[in-house]
Amino acid sequence: MIVCKFGGTSIQDTPAIRRLIGIIGDRAAEHPLVVVSALAGVTDALLGLARLAEMGGSGFRDRLAEIVARHETIARELPGAAEATDGLHTEAETLTRELEPLAGRRATVRELDAIVGRGELWSSRVIAAALGGAGVPAEWVDVRSIMVTDDRFGRATPYSQVLNVRARERLGPLLERSVVPVTQGFIGATATGVPTTLGRGGSDFSASLLGAALRAKRVEIWTDVDGLMTADPRVVPFARTLEVASYEEAAELATFGAKVLHPATAVPLVHEGIPIVVLNSRHPERRGTVIEPSADLTRLGDSPIRSISWKKGITVINIRAPRMLGAYGFLRQLFEVFERHEVVVDVLASSEVSVSLTIEDPRHLELVRRELDDLGEVWVDHGRAIIAVVGIGLKTTPGLVARVFGAVGEACVEVISQGASAINMTFTVKEEDGPVVVQRLHEEFFGTC
Ligand code: ADP
Ligand code: ASP
Ligand code: MG
Repeated sequence: MIVCKFGGTSIQDTPAIRRLIGIIGDRAAEHPLVVVSALAGVTDALLGLARLAEMGGSGFRDRLAEIVARHETIARELPGAAEATDGLHTEAETLTRELEPLAGRRATVRELDAIVGRGELWSSRVIAAALGGAGVPAEWVDVRSIMVTDDRFGRATPYSQVLNVRARERLGPLLERSVVPVTQGFIGATATGVPTTLGRGGSDFSASLLGAALRAKRVEIWTDVDGLMTADPRVVPFARTLEVASYEEAAELATFGAKVLHPATAVPLVHEGIPIVVLNSRHPERRGTVIEPSADLTRLGDSPIRSISWKKGITVINIRAPRMLGAYGFLRQLFEVFERHEVVVDVLASSEVSVSLTIEDPRHLELVRRELDDLGEVWVDHGRAIIAVVGIGLKTTPGLVARVFGAVGEACVEVISQGASAINMTFTVKEEDGPVVVQRLHEEFFGTC
């Protein structure tokens, strides 16, 4: 069997879903499992609905009706798919009951998970019906009975053993009968059935978890670009597509901003060595990027660098503690603060008496800062971007660091980190300098066209 995951822009309207039907039809003999995101923009729209509901009144109802109507229109335009509309309305009614009690207060993360996950339930209903209508035997499957997670709402972790058993029990018989299961990415539920989500962009991770559980031949990630590229094509329009990549490279790129793949996508697949193929749903004939353990990275031309990622919205925390000089136990104390508040640290650099580190999620910053004040002098820089240069040639190519910083030009480089990963070098710049630094680095290592 294979897993075919379709992102929001690959199912955003009727023509996109027609393309999906073609892609799945062509793969019928390989027993595909379809995993879908919400239609493009719907997850954000649902977050917007929650904010409207918090303001009170019935303002959210019109907006909700528009979102449902968008799905209904698509369902009516696709032969045989109109049968999905009953399911859409049932979901909308449940959603209304979840939104009403929010009036006058902030939704909890737990409530938000139930609300934002609705997008995937809607899109999968339309797509399952559309496949059936096109003569491809398909069945809608509610992934919440399979993707059992812990209760860390907003970024839940699936229990892989339960998932493996449930995926085989629920999906195995359908695949054996050549019925295409159509299910949701991004969402799950606790053991007691409370809805959870795996975090934004989490559908890729859902696909690979299901692929690992079912020992898929490959996991296809269908998106709106040709594959994993040398940079975000929105920043560098002439970025090139990588034919192959290693799991490690894909993970580094994704962690530092290459949105095309969720950073954890490769994790469940490493053990079995299952390949991921990133493909363009608008051009299914193109080869895309194959991410696999045996990737022959020497085939990649002359550049020692493979790709440049960047991620904005970064906060840098600096701690200066003269008592750190010659002392032990200081870093442990420092990291315990981050652990207590469950704050993820991305990049770290340290000197004799100071440490700088970056965080992406500033929600617990004030609490962290208060505790860090006990350890030393603390100052915080907001509005930063992390630039990550990824490639196997990083450590072995003389003069490379000089080329990297030569290309950065006038931009002020702050936290620099290299060493922990043999294939990755990261540094921070001011957010507004991010795009131009990525463009200059790309020009330095890949030329201008
Ligand atoms: P989907 O809706 O299919 O999940 P995403 O929007 O999550 O798609 O990811 C695809 C986007 O990732 C592309 O449109 C592209 O702008 C962006 N992107 C960022 N960095 C890269 C990269 N290195 N290679 C390819 N795409 C990238
Ligand atoms: N729909 C979710 C999001 O927008 C999950 C995903 O697309 O992967 O984050
Ligand atoms: Mg995505």
